[in-house]
Amino acid sequence: MLETYFSASKMLGHLRSGPSRPYLDGFAAALERQGYGSETAVRYLRAAAHVGHVMAERDASVSDIDLAAFEQHLRTCRCPRARGGRRNHHTIYGARLFRRTSKK
Ligand SMILES: [Zn+2]
Repeated sequence: MLETYFSASKMLGHLRSGPSRPYLDGFAAALERQGYGSETAVRYLRAAAHVGHVMAERDASVSDIDLAAFEQHLRTCRCPRARGGRRNHHTIYGARLFRRTSKK
């Protein structure tokens, strides 16, 4: 499913290696079902991967995303791989959508 949006294997590897990994395919499918264009979907998927890393750092589960904590993190984000996932409305909105999808 992720392959629909990411042809670059490097980016795919990055996304698949993170804590959000078990949920990303489902999230990608949900975005496609909801009619999001690929450019937007890519932003949201990056945000999903980013929020997964942040939650893991805080010993929180990806199925229990704390959006306030993520927003706080974004203010001082220095993640080397957060390319395109810095603080903007896409990042927060993507993380919020992802939270809905990853909830058990
Ligand atoms: Zn970050």
